[in-house]
Amino acid sequence: MDEHTYDVVVVGGGFAGVAAARTAAQRGLHVLLIDSNPFHQFQPLLYQVATSQLSVAAVARPLRSIFRRRPRVQLRIARVTAIDLTDHAVTTSDGAMFRGRSLVVAVGAEPNFFDTPGAKQHAYPLYSVADATALASRLLGLIDGATSGETAQPFDIVVVGGGPTGVETAGAIAENLDYVVSRYVSPDFAASCTVHLVDMVDQVLTPFSVPSQQYAQRRLKKVGVNLKLGSGVTAVTEHGVSLADGTTIDTPVVVWAGGLKGSALLAESGLPVGRGGRVDVAPDLSVPGFQRVYALGDAANIPGPDGTPLPQLGSVAQQSGAWAGRNVHAELSGAQPTPFAYRDKGIMAMIGRGAAVAELGRRHRGLRGPLAFAAWLVVHVMLLSGIPQRVSAIVSWAWDYFTHRRPHVVVYRPEEYARGHLATARSADGTG
Ligand SMILES: Cc1cc2nc3c(=O)[nH]c(=O)nc-3n(C[C@H](O)[C@H](O)[C@H](O)COP(=O)(O)OP(=O)(O)OC[C@H]3O[C@@H](n4cnc5c(N)ncnc54)[C@H](O)[C@@H]3O)c2cc1C
Repeated sequence: MDEHTYDVVVVGGGFAGVAAARTAAQRGLHVLLIDSNPFHQFQPLLYQVATSQLSVAAVARPLRSIFRRRPRVQLRIARVTAIDLTDHAVTTSDGAMFRGRSLVVAVGAEPNFFDTPGAKQHAYPLYSVADATALASRLLGLIDGATSGETAQPFDIVVVGGGPTGVETAGAIAENLDYVVSRYVSPDFAASCTVHLVDMVDQVLTPFSVPSQQYAQRRLKKVGVNLKLGSGVTAVTEHGVSLADGTTIDTPVVVWAGGLKGSALLAESGLPVGRGGRVDVAPDLSVPGFQRVYALGDAANIPGPDGTPLPQLGSVAQQSGAWAGRNVHAELSGAQPTPFAYRDKGIMAMIGRGAAVAELGRRHRGLRGPLAFAAWLVVHVMLLSGIPQRVSAIVSWAWDYFTHRRPHVVVYRPEEYARGHLATARSADGTG
């Protein structure tokens, strides 16, 4: 078995892990960053890959490119299967073991299906590049299959979860039908397909203010989204969903944006997990009961100023990563780690072309409509990692905006395309 020792081992190359590794290396520490993927994925824009608006290259930046000027950061592409919290050691799926003088756990989260029967087997989550390419291919297969026969066969799509991910995804799929399919395939066909947004609570965008929620609902209805609120999904099958109010919706595709939970690895490793299966950390991001072990980002319940956990946001992950990098360095240099102070920059969600909601700064000043749309674009360009990724996103958005054509109609996953195509083609010719 290989064995190597570093100043700090960081598990996870998302917003939190990258920021932690970068900050620790800037302070002279030797870092090993381990991720199961060779790239950093920009989750806030995955739904745009799934709806053919952005290319994978815009949202997935190679970790080697991020750290090319930081020789103190070494990379290992492997899945961590076990963590020894006392020894600061991790074991990877290829059998190697890596030890640090300190350990940073930044493995993010995974979809939470809340034990809904059939959801894990049949629904499409949207948490990784692999999820986004699977959904993109399935949707393209569905549209092509539905329109390949003599008479086009309409279909419905169900998006579960009225949070920012669900709202953005439902809005984008509805716009695909309204602006793109309607224009380039058939307006009648596009009008007969429906996107349903389902949530057990009776409003969308729960973390936002009531005016933002109302604006979002109006805009979603305007682009043709059917809001089915106040009734949760009780089961998902290959052919549809059942709801708590006893109704069912027939659909070949269910998108799951119903929530996240901490990775199973956290509890399996003996980390103290609390709400949402996330690690309950101390205010300085350290894990109580273990020395020089930190947990951050979506993997942690990080106490905010009033003690309640901060939300799972890119800004929380990024800031907690940089803070942990500083605290790791302080501890290894004999100084005291300091409590994390989060700078709240606000929250935003895109609903569609020219329509977004933004609540900016600590006071969450509300913006809605084209101004919020412009703010959303600027913020996301700034947040994207890497110049080629930013240029690619700007060019794609401009192309999409001015031509009403989705710029990345790419079948990344032929097997998913074929599933969608066959399902709709069969029901169109009555053999399904
Ligand atoms: C669809 C979607 C849309 C979002 N939109 C927004 C938004 O608009 N604004 C916003 O602020 N936030 C948004 N978020 C939240 C934001 O993306 C997350 O809070 C942030 O990515 C968390 O960063 P992280 O580093 O903690 O975890 P992640 O970004 O999930 O990174 C975790 C990393 O750990 C790696 N990993 C996991 N397990 C292992 C293992 N066992 N071994 C090795 N590597 C492992 C993964 O490959 C991944 O690279 C969104 C999230 C999603 C899913």
